[in-house]
Amino acid sequence: VSGRADGETGERGETRAAIIAIGSEMLGPLRLDTNSQWLSARLEEVGIPVVHKSIVGDDLEAIAEELSHASRRGNLIVTTGGLGPTADDVTVAAVARWLGVEVMRNEEFLARMRARFERRGFRMPTTNEKQADFLVGAHVLENPRGTAPGFWVRRDDVELVILPGVPSEMREILELSVLPRLKERSSGIVARRRVLRIAGMGESAVEERVAPVYEKWKEHPVTILASPGEVQLHLCVRAEPSRAEETVARMEQDFAQALAGRVFGRDGEDLSATVGRLLRDSGRTLALAESCTGGMISSLLTDTPGSSAYFRGAVVSYANSVKEEMLGLSRRTLEEHGAVSQEAARQMAEGARARFDTDLAAAVTGIAGPDGGTPEKPVGTVWFALSERDREVVAKRRSFIGDRGMVRRAASLYALELLRRHLEGSLA
Ligand code: ATP
Ligand code: MG
Repeated sequence: VSGRADGETGERGETRAAIIAIGSEMLGPLRLDTNSQWLSARLEEVGIPVVHKSIVGDDLEAIAEELSHASRRGNLIVTTGGLGPTADDVTVAAVARWLGVEVMRNEEFLARMRARFERRGFRMPTTNEKQADFLVGAHVLENPRGTAPGFWVRRDDVELVILPGVPSEMREILELSVLPRLKERSSGIVARRRVLRIAGMGESAVEERVAPVYEKWKEHPVTILASPGEVQLHLCVRAEPSRAEETVARMEQDFAQALAGRVFGRDGEDLSATVGRLLRDSGRTLALAESCTGGMISSLLTDTPGSSAYFRGAVVSYANSVKEEMLGLSRRTLEEHGAVSQEAARQMAEGARARFDTDLAAAVTGIAGPDGGTPEKPVGTVWFALSERDREVVAKRRSFIGDRGMVRRAASLYALELLRRHLEGSLA
């Protein structure tokens, strides 16, 4: 038995991965290193814990230094990026220096590269020749989607897997030529994760409800993560594949039960798709009246393909005159209660439903800030209303915290959550 595979406590002899993302663009504010996120998930699936991650610029010295550092943390180093033809792509040279091996031009590969360009009617630029410079002694990993191949090479008890930076190329090489071989030597302990997604509830409210379940499953790590309008519970079980799968499913059940209908989706599922499915399955159509969300709910709903089957449209009634003219909100309501009020939300929902002739309509009106708050209606106050044919209008008030963007996003997700609960028949 090769022992536990949980991160830094891994025993000697067991594979522990370090990931290095190479590319100066990721040191700046504009580009995120998404490769290593994806790589960690794949490595975990085959039971290889990731113990170190880093980002370095396209700099020969920096890369070589980082290889030294990473090799003290893990015994499998995976790098991505810097295999391109341009002068700033120096990964191969850096690895060669660190390994103390030569780089040699592979004439056969060069000829194949040239032929590939010519087949498409181009002459290969001389800069590309660099991509035929192979690390001596390395196993070459074919790149079916691009020019630069990857490499797999060993120095003492450290292995290096060198992959291109283009995400689609990196993924294909890993799945085709790297993962199958890593799987064979894996300890058999894998990580299975599940994300439970909850809207319309704060982090501490979620925490309170699930506290007893936490206790029951305390040997497996559970993390609560909050973002505007959504709370996520991340469950993780490390065990043999079938036991991990079964355990995470039992945990999921317990947590979902404790949250009584408030989990709107798991893993990558989103609220817009869930609402869409419920509308489609029940054959109902929807219209919206959006004020402070400015069309964001419509945008989220139409992220889901096929939404035209149930979503008719929206009035973005930002100005009061539009609330009056397009949605039939009465002047009296505006004068007596204001545009951010239960009465206004109700009339907006009814107006949208009539205007678009739908089964259902939702309305949102609130104060996103930073200005416009009053003591009775502080920034973050939002009224919601749902109108359904032959039913009482339902209205809810919520106070969201955060800046304008956070309030708008939280309000949009809350509107979708109200729709979801209404469609599932669980909205009081
Ligand atoms: P190629 O051989 O195809 O030229 P490369 O290995 O030289 O690829 P880069 O030039 O470093 O790769 O990057 C190519 C593209 O991939 C760029 O758009 C870059 O932003 C993106 N990329 C590189 N590394 C990552 C990363 N870690 N996460 C996400 N995107 C990345
Ligand atoms: Mg690069």
